[in-house]
Amino acid sequence: MKAEFGGRFSCLHCLHCCYFKADVEAPTLFPWEKRRIEETLKKGAMTSHKFEPILIYGSEDGVCVVVLYRWLIKGFCPFFNLREKVCTIHDDKPLACRMYPLLLDITGHKLSISLSCDWIRAKKDVIRTSFNNINKIKEVFPTEFQAALEVLSYIENVKRFIKGAGLIQKSSMAGCRRVYDIDEYMERFDGIWKEENG
Ligand code: SF4
Ligand code: SF4
Repeated sequence: MKAEFGGRFSCLHCLHCCYFKADVEAPTLFPWEKRRIEETLKKGAMTSHKFEPILIYGSEDGVCVVVLYRWLIKGFCPFFNLREKVCTIHDDKPLACRMYPLLLDITGHKLSISLSCDWIRAKKDVIRTSFNNINKIKEVFPTEFQAALEVLSYIENVKRFIKGAGLIQKSSMAGCRRVYDIDEYMERFDGIWKEENG
């Protein structure tokens, strides 16, 4: 049976998802994605970009671990080609961009859909009635759904580690004496654990 949405999602290259008016709209990045983006920006001599830690855990002795950053883009993303209306790092873009127009609330594990996307806006009446059907979402957004699953799987993995390491969530970087990216910290922690336990 044909999807009520009218087939698979197909980007209209309307510009909206690569232009940012407010920080809260900008993409969130896992630390390894942030480092990769920084490297690419550096190669292109685009050095003025900022990243803000937005999901932070810490210990009582001032160790802080960053799980997510926000890439504070103002206006068009530096990797957006305005003339062609395409992402110039398409194969390497972060998961937040790969899953768009799906949105994931990582605390409640809730999937939603961005009404800023032109394709979604054009079909919003049928989407409203079909979005609670998970099979329909998979059918219409196969690659975006896979990206959302990837995010969820990283988050679950990290949450298990955080719990085991006894870290607690922090609202800011205040009081941080040593700061690690979560993947680097997990590797370090694993190394210490192996050293202490043979
Ligand atoms: S990385 Fe690509 S898809 Fe993501 S905001 Fe930038 S240009 Fe758009
Ligand atoms: S807002 Fe939607 S249709 Fe427009 S470029 Fe982004 S994904 Fe494509």
